[in-house]
Amino acid sequence: MDRTVNDILNQDNFSKSDLITLLNCEGDDRTLLFKKSSEIKEKYIGKKVWFRGLIEFSNICGKDCLYCGIRKGNKNLERYSLDDDEILAAAKFAYIHSYGSIALQSGELESSFVSGRIENLLRRIREMSDGELGVTLSVGEQEPEVYKRWFDAGAHRYLLRVESTNPALYGKIHPDDSKHSFSRRLECLKSLQYIGYQTGTGVMIGLPFQTMEDLAGDLLFMKNFDIDMCGMGPYIEHADTPLIHHSQTLMPLKQRFDLTLKMIAIVRIMMKDINIVAATALQAIDPIGREKAVKIGANILMPNITPGKYRDSYKLYDNKPCTDDSAEDCQSCLEARVSLADAEVIYGEWGDSKHYSERRLRLK
Ligand code: SAM
Ligand code: SF4
Repeated sequence: MDRTVNDILNQDNFSKSDLITLLNCEGDDRTLLFKKSSEIKEKYIGKKVWFRGLIEFSNICGKDCLYCGIRKGNKNLERYSLDDDEILAAAKFAYIHSYGSIALQSGELESSFVSGRIENLLRRIREMSDGELGVTLSVGEQEPEVYKRWFDAGAHRYLLRVESTNPALYGKIHPDDSKHSFSRRLECLKSLQYIGYQTGTGVMIGLPFQTMEDLAGDLLFMKNFDIDMCGMGPYIEHADTPLIHHSQTLMPLKQRFDLTLKMIAIVRIMMKDINIVAATALQAIDPIGREKAVKIGANILMPNITPGKYRDSYKLYDNKPCTDDSAEDCQSCLEARVSLADAEVIYGEWGDSKHYSERRLRLK
């Protein structure tokens, strides 16, 4: 006989079929799932939420991921790259407002010029903040020695979404060439973890061709890889990307949103002490989407502190929220919203993944 959702939630390990049952659950079972994930969050993390001030410092990208609005092949957007002083000023804003951490994100470029520039910036940010500002990087696939140089220069967390752990699906959402190789993505994640970064990954939810079995596989991958941080969000179409031609096959946005909440809840239950981001894409579907994610398991928010004039050009998907807010607007709106989710923003702390310290202790 199939196990009930209640039976499954009372276990410590989940099979693929258990996870599929949880992903498909509705009504009272769905309520039970969210109740369990909220309880676990409360027990292991408390009501705390930490900010990572997000600086989208360049939309120039050398890759052509078929889903992404800033892919190299999209000629319908203005390209920009903040200069060093603009990045430093945004980092200073975060520091002065006691955000604890920033996240530097951009399109992916591999060159000695770019790696040297980022290394230099990391040192300047460390100097400006007396080493007090935590730094997450999210700038894609790089060689291990580049990751190491950035780690030594002050970055200590890295977010690299695997996007999908099913190689066949990965192949369908990326061009079929050596620049977009699934095996390299895995190699990069391994070297980040080996170097000592708090390593974060995640997937997009509701992609064309994606099945519940794929998502269950993604959950098992994250558990087995022993990630420290998770950043997942709904896939949202962008009109100027090749995947737009598969829009008719997608589940409705509301369903993608709900499935993302379930993925977050299940990750929280499976990996009790990791950091989980409430992705901005949730808010593109539901105005209080990120708060709903905080309620059922997420504990990290990324207020956008990119200078306003550039925000419109970092459109990964259609209807990206907050593109015309200032950094201050973003902070006050998030703070009010977090309290709606019965949580509290913690200022002046890094809010590192507890899982990371436990994992490092286990390795010693
Ligand atoms: N270039 C770096 C990389 O790919 O890791 C960092 C920036 S990239 C824009 C950050 C994330 O945006 C990707 O990992 C992807 O999951 C997400 N993204 C891109 N296009 C998206 C879309 N149409 N809907 C939802 N998320 C999207
Ligand atoms: Fe570039 Fe990242 Fe977008 Fe891929 S997801 S096109 S690497 S910015």
